[in-house]
Amino acid sequence: MQDAVKMEFQSEAKQVLELMIHSVYSNPDIFLRELISNASDALDKLRIESLSSGGEEEPASAGRISVRADREAGTVTVSDNGIGMSRDELVSYLGTIARSGTKEFIRAMREAPRGDGDMIGQFGVGFYSSFIVADRVTVSTRRHGSGESWLWDSSGDGTYTIEPGNRAESGTDVTLHLRGAGEPDEDERTGSKDYLSKWALREIIKKYSDFVSHPIYLEDAGDKKEDGEKPEPVNSMKALWVRPESSVSEDEYREFYKHVTHDWEDPMERIAYRAEGTNEFHALLYIPSRPPFDLYYREGAHGVQLYIRRVFIMNDCKELIPEYLRFVRGVVDSEDLPLNVSREILQQDRQTAMIKRSLTRKVLDTLKRMKQERPEDYAKFWDKFGPVLKEGIVSDAKNREAIMSLCLFHGSKSGRTSLDAYAAAMRDGQRSIYYLSGGAPSALTESPKLEAFSERGLDVLLLGEPVDEIWIAAAPEFEGHPFVSASSADIEIEGGPGGGGPEAKKIEESGLVSSLKNVIAGMDLGVKIEDVRLSSRLVDSPATFVQKGEPISPQMRNFFKAMGQEAPPERRVLEINPAHPLVRRMASHAEEHPDDPGGLGEWAALLAGLASITDGEAVPNGKSFARTIEKLLSR
Ligand code: ADP
Repeated sequence: MQDAVKMEFQSEAKQVLELMIHSVYSNPDIFLRELISNASDALDKLRIESLSSGGEEEPASAGRISVRADREAGTVTVSDNGIGMSRDELVSYLGTIARSGTKEFIRAMREAPRGDGDMIGQFGVGFYSSFIVADRVTVSTRRHGSGESWLWDSSGDGTYTIEPGNRAESGTDVTLHLRGAGEPDEDERTGSKDYLSKWALREIIKKYSDFVSHPIYLEDAGDKKEDGEKPEPVNSMKALWVRPESSVSEDEYREFYKHVTHDWEDPMERIAYRAEGTNEFHALLYIPSRPPFDLYYREGAHGVQLYIRRVFIMNDCKELIPEYLRFVRGVVDSEDLPLNVSREILQQDRQTAMIKRSLTRKVLDTLKRMKQERPEDYAKFWDKFGPVLKEGIVSDAKNREAIMSLCLFHGSKSGRTSLDAYAAAMRDGQRSIYYLSGGAPSALTESPKLEAFSERGLDVLLLGEPVDEIWIAAAPEFEGHPFVSASSADIEIEGGPGGGGPEAKKIEESGLVSSLKNVIAGMDLGVKIEDVRLSSRLVDSPATFVQKGEPISPQMRNFFKAMGQEAPPERRVLEINPAHPLVRRMASHAEEHPDDPGGLGEWAALLAGLASITDGEAVPNGKSFARTIEKLLSR
């Protein structure tokens, strides 16, 4: 017989254990939910492994979970006859935390309001929640198909031991040695609930694990078995998603959501759906109230759970829901797919594609209804998931208009608005949807490019996210209204009189524009200016940069650069405001000193610098810009 080997927990695991042991939880009951959920996963894994090795063969004995209280020993044991763990698996699954979110978990726990222990499961540290109520945990396990079994033992103090065990059947027993009654903080930690009472355990199982699809039996070391008596499982095992909606309470729906997602908050919206006909399936989907920490991780746990005829098949099934709806969680249960389906098959399967299409439509419809009927909730949803949903404008051409209708924007005049609202409020003669991109809406509001629009009472959408410039390039119009960038050089602003006027005429006659062009051509301003011209879009500001060709903001150019990609060539035009005193003064200077291009150069540098600043860019030659200002001011 080998001796017990003492091992250290990985350092993140130690920190999580510390938190479990020393924090106070409003809801210590969840340890049981976590252990039952692990047991249920282990049964599913065994079934899937048996299927994939030997065709459609079910495991030798039926899956079962049991919860057993032993008052004399002061222990609660959760057992399953599932897949079990090998020695290596014990070390890596229970001794380390693999999930990338651990650091975030530790931070969130430290910052969480006192007692927010429900966060535990979401971060995949479920097993460690045993240490909320136990001061010692032992695990006896045997991996399916292996001749060895193991005993794992820890008091949560930074180390654990492993030694050979003598378990005959594959599966796992997790035994919690409950913290001794009489410990000073006992009541505060556990709310003095008696976890050795069958009654209390039954309540907890009913509340959190009723829909677990394997039977959960409750046992007591003191129970006497009558001959022929058949134990009854505590849980109903009824798949919530196939029950008629009217027979399920909102509480049950909420608990199920938490079971599936490990979220600790209630969901924002629930979608129950049933498709009949040639491709039959049930779906129970949820929109969370809060984005999961891995929403933007490529390897994040996205997608729904797939069941086939009530049998669990896989978690995080990304094949059933498009990536831009990856925040949607829940269950899809197909009546028609074969039980031995794999991810590879799903990716090419026609039925899967049909399910995905109808779920997409259903989710988009639900969001539409939410936007109309509960605008405040919808705004909250939008703030959290809007940037993800917008990806769909590019990736899902079929539903493009529907997704665009769901988008919320910030309008320069209207504040929070949508494309439908924008189109409905258009001025006479207006056909285009105007937008300005690059920088946060709060910074864009200040842009000189908006001046002519606000003077004409036109609304401009302020698009602040990098994804905005991507989708707008892919979707040039909405319901027949073209998107037009307020920074485009070739713009004709509709809905009011254009520029021109006597001032423009005077400046034109002064020859300022062509002199400026000449001077700038001979200067190094740090940006390439292709042209100079009089502006009809400026009212209060002296100058601004507009773009010929594709309207790409400076921010987007930086983004391209950071991604190592080449942006289309930049074609800047410096527009100057003929009505501005500064420009008028430059015109007189140009007229009076036609042979003083040097002096005009200083003014040109000033205008270009100001134009960069109001675009939210850094002035390219900061030092020489500062010198120019000093010189001009000291004259
Ligand atoms: P999570 O369940 O979120 O992955 P846990 O800390 O609860 O995190 O468990 C870590 C891992 O330990 C599980 O993913 C699983 O591989 C293994 N495990 C836990 N309990 C059991 C069990 N009863 N049977 C088999 N494996 C288990």
